[in-house]
Amino acid sequence: MSQRNNSQIKLTETEFKTIGYGLVESLATFLEQMPKGKVTSGKTPNEVRALLDGGSFSNESKNSKKVVDDVFNLLSQESLFNGHPKFLGYITSSPAPLGVLSDLLASAMNPNVGAQILSPVATEIEKQTVRWLCEFIGVPTSFGGVLVSGGNMANFTAFLAARNFAAGGNYKKKGISGLAKPLVFYCSKSTHTWIDKAAVLFGHGTESVHWIEADEDNRIRLDLLAEAIEKDKRAGKQPAIAIGTAGDVSTGAIDDLEGLSNICKAHKLWFHVDGAYGAPAAILPELINEFSGLKKADSIAIDPHKWLYAPLEAGCTLVKNPNHLIDTFSSHPEYYNFSHNDDGKETNFFEYGLQNSRGFRALKVWIVLQQVGKEGYKELIRDDIDLAKYLYELAQAHPELEAMSHHLSITTCRYIPVDFDRNNPDGEKVLNALNETLLNALEKEGEVFLSNAVIHGKYCLRACVVNFRTSRKDIEEIIEIVVKRGVEIYKNM
Ligand SMILES: *Cc1c(COP(=O)(O)O)cnc(C)c1O
Repeated sequence: MSQRNNSQIKLTETEFKTIGYGLVESLATFLEQMPKGKVTSGKTPNEVRALLDGGSFSNESKNSKKVVDDVFNLLSQESLFNGHPKFLGYITSSPAPLGVLSDLLASAMNPNVGAQILSPVATEIEKQTVRWLCEFIGVPTSFGGVLVSGGNMANFTAFLAARNFAAGGNYKKKGISGLAKPLVFYCSKSTHTWIDKAAVLFGHGTESVHWIEADEDNRIRLDLLAEAIEKDKRAGKQPAIAIGTAGDVSTGAIDDLEGLSNICKAHKLWFHVDGAYGAPAAILPELINEFSGLKKADSIAIDPHKWLYAPLEAGCTLVKNPNHLIDTFSSHPEYYNFSHNDDGKETNFFEYGLQNSRGFRALKVWIVLQQVGKEGYKELIRDDIDLAKYLYELAQAHPELEAMSHHLSITTCRYIPVDFDRNNPDGEKVLNALNETLLNALEKEGEVFLSNAVIHGKYCLRACVVNFRTSRKDIEEIIEIVVKRGVEIYKNM
């Protein structure tokens, strides 16, 4: 084989430039135009499927530029654009444009960040990114950690480290069946679904999760937590982990982290904080009290692909004593010192989490952290919170809206027709159905994208502002759109 034919996959320098420049040009225009269009075309899965050429995987190669152009057209017309200024659904942020370019750079270099020998620079960049994330949320940089794909994985990774610690010496050999007492995990009823998934996947079962009531503001009831721990101890169980949430997904409420940490200390529990959404707000001096307990956590989950505006996917697990990660995920744990003084040892990230081969997801986080800086992030996050507050105030002042809650950058409210008979015994049922129909219509029509929350049994519209493109004008227009559609839907009910 003197001259290999690899022309099916290789691009010449000129082709790479032509296709690359063309794509960047299209994307630049797209980013400029996207905010002026709809959030989504609202097509059904069948309609979207029909847009893809239904044929099977082809035998022939296709022209590279044509493939990319066609796919760009499809995606730029039919996607749901979470970068749209009126996309305030779930917790999915606008990606930072520089993060988009960073992903291109990362995949061009394609380091395997599972082992330092395969990723000499990328591993150091990921380590620095982890330290900067610690600084960002105000915990000591002696915390260590690892980047993962998102919040669920960040929480799972921490959960496994905590479980390994709680289960003690024989766990790795004997597994769950070797436990002297069943482990119990505590969290409030507003904790994200990841904990249920973890309990099932990691062999403890859903009954190992002790759900504690939340108060009026959706914060865990510490009195009930302490009671539950005592009761489980008396019943011969081993209280193992307590989970606090810093920014719950429904309403943005932050648990009393100091209080939780005190209970954990008193009862020797691992204290985990799920800050997937809210932890970045710890950078704001005005929220110092809400987040003061964060540095007492044994582990923290944070999602750079949420409030730090990294493109999907980027989550991060931080652990106060990073040896717990190695102890859990390495088959040959060899403890070493995590101090700032570089001891010259390699960091092999495959020993810090579930993955073996790992991509360079740190790069987009690292680059955007540099671009924006601490003060820049303070301003962006503060503005998002102010916009959510503005939405709450407008809802409060509006005769046809009921403002329900506002914490961090999440506001909930519901539509109530002006002439609605509040004495109707079925009133709440009617309002729930009305607001659900309203939300579904809004999501399909694509002028604005919100999601829902159920607060004390009431179905609410929920807006989460993790969007640097959203303005006060968008918020004002969202109020108008919601009420206008609400009126129409109620008339036809
Ligand atoms: C978003 C979120 C999760 C899940 O994170 P993913 O990135 O979607 O996997 C878990 N917990 C909280 C509090 C969240 O906000």
